[in-house]
Amino acid sequence: NPPEFKPPKLPTSLSSCARVFAVTSGKGGVGKSTTCVNLAVALARIGLRVGLLDADVHGPSVPTLMGLSGRPVTDGEKKMLPMENHGVRCQSMGFLLPPGRASTWRGPMVSGALTTMINDTRWGDVEVLMVDMPPGTGDAQISISQKLPLTGAVVVSTPQALASEVASRGIDMYERIRTPVLGVIENMAYYEEKDGTRAYVFGKGGARATAEARGVEFLGEVPLDGDIRARSDEGAPIVVADADGDVARIYRSIAQRL
Ligand code: ADP
Repeated sequence: NPPEFKPPKLPTSLSSCARVFAVTSGKGGVGKSTTCVNLAVALARIGLRVGLLDADVHGPSVPTLMGLSGRPVTDGEKKMLPMENHGVRCQSMGFLLPPGRASTWRGPMVSGALTTMINDTRWGDVEVLMVDMPPGTGDAQISISQKLPLTGAVVVSTPQALASEVASRGIDMYERIRTPVLGVIENMAYYEEKDGTRAYVFGKGGARATAEARGVEFLGEVPLDGDIRARSDEGAPIVVADADGDVARIYRSIAQRL
């Protein structure tokens, strides 16, 4: 167990932020960023002032998913104004590195970058901060939990056995660092055919079973849907692009449970 873990205080840059949610996954490619972005937009649509911190320093995807590019403007006090779209204030390494440049930073520099993005951004009166975590259960996760008082972690997994096993390790890590796990979201849970029948492409119910086995909440299932992918690539999350659709309704109902 990590020694004497004490949750940090809220940084002054986020002094009005009542809730900080870490959206996590044990492994990459399960749709963590897609889920995080859609939940952030759904929360903004509910009427909350929402911030979105892309903590995936090595693989930032928030700029693309939110349809944002360019560099944040710096004010007279050397604070960066967050980049805003779809009613969500965003900060990401993707805005700070030259286009196409990979960050090859190791632990201490990643930690420094996270501190900069948290403390030197003019988050203003943000009420909820969504943190798109890097995949895995390592350095960056611990680093975030030392910089931000996490209200809780939301674990995204596909139904596949391997993904669910990895999700289970993710839950274990948050329990060790005494961060409540708010629940598990099963992404790519099923594919709905035109006639309404469901195909369980990645297996059935693995993430739900993991939530039950670990005694955490199951927050809902998001289907495998070509429009989710297409809208993400276009930088207009499906929650805004097709706000009245079934998928948007699913994201909204999960957001309301946070
Ligand atoms: P992660 O953050 O876990 O690495 P991403 O959010 O980047 O995963 O998603 C990986 C890929 O899967 C992306 O191309 C994304 O558009 C796609 N994707 C995510 N969720 C869904 C879904 N429910 N249906 C269809 N495609 C999805």
